[in-house]
Formats: sequence, C-alpha cells, structure tokens
Amino acid sequence: MNAITYVGGCFCGRVRYQASGEVTNLCFCHCTSCRRAIGAPMVPWGTFAAQNFTIVRGHLAQFRSSPKVLRGFCADCGTSLTYRRDDRSEEIDLTLSSLDDAVSLVPEVHIWVEDKLPWVAITEGRAQFAKSRTTKPKPGTCLP
Ligand SMILES: [Zn+2]
Ligand SMILES: [Zn+2]
Repeated sequence: MNAITYVGGCFCGRVRYQASGEVTNLCFCHCTSCRRAIGAPMVPWGTFAAQNFTIVRGHLAQFRSSPKVLRGFCADCGTSLTYRRDDRSEEIDLTLSSLDDAVSLVPEVHIWVEDKLPWVAITEGRAQFAKSRTTKPKPGTCLP
C-alpha cells in the first residue's frame, strides 16, 4: 500500500482534494469526450480508490458528460478535477495536472488514440491504445 498522500485542487484554490493509496491506469486520454469536456488535446489521468479520495475544501461541481459519466470541476474557475463512472463507482480518476506536485505521477500510456487530433504527434515511446488500455472493455478504462 502506498502511504503517499497526494494533494491538489483547482486553479483558483476554492476546491482542494487529497487522495492516497494505489494509483492505477496512469494515462493520457485522447478521447473526444475528455478533449471537449476539458478543452485540451489530451488529458492525463490516474485512478484511485474512491474511498481514498476526499474533497477537503470547497464543493465539487459535477457535470454528466454521458449517461454513466460524472465529471467534477470547480464551479468558480472551471478546472477539471475528477471523472467517475456509475458502473465503477468504487474508483475515481483525477486529472494529474491538478496535483500540487504535478510531476509526482507520470502517465504511462496513451489511450483512445483513434480519437487523437491529427495535429498532435506522439513522438515519445509510450505505448498507444486505439481505445482503452485493454482489448476488452473492463472497469478502469476511460470510456467517453
Ligand atoms: Zn477553482
Ligand atoms: Zn477520455
């Protein structure tokens, strides 16, 4: 078990969170839903156990970006912070770029590369997956 506590929050500081424990599924997601929800060409995510995640200040506003997906953000400054799926409610994904120490967790792979914008060139050596990280859908993948 990882004893490190990760802390982070939104740009304006009104929403602060902490998370601990094992982090899985470190990835860049290129899916259309993440891109449009967050306004970025790709989004770095890490998955925590939901029970290890706490909002320690402020209120996490939520937006249902598809029938099973809730995206959490700061209602004041708009920073995207979390991603949750109804069918894997025991987990929560955090935007790695919202961590105070944003170099502490590093994306390992690119997922949903079939949705990648053509002007994004992946020139480093990370593995790329057309859709989710596994060939068959399973909990823990970042589906749009
Ligand atoms: Zn904010
Ligand atoms: Zn995505």
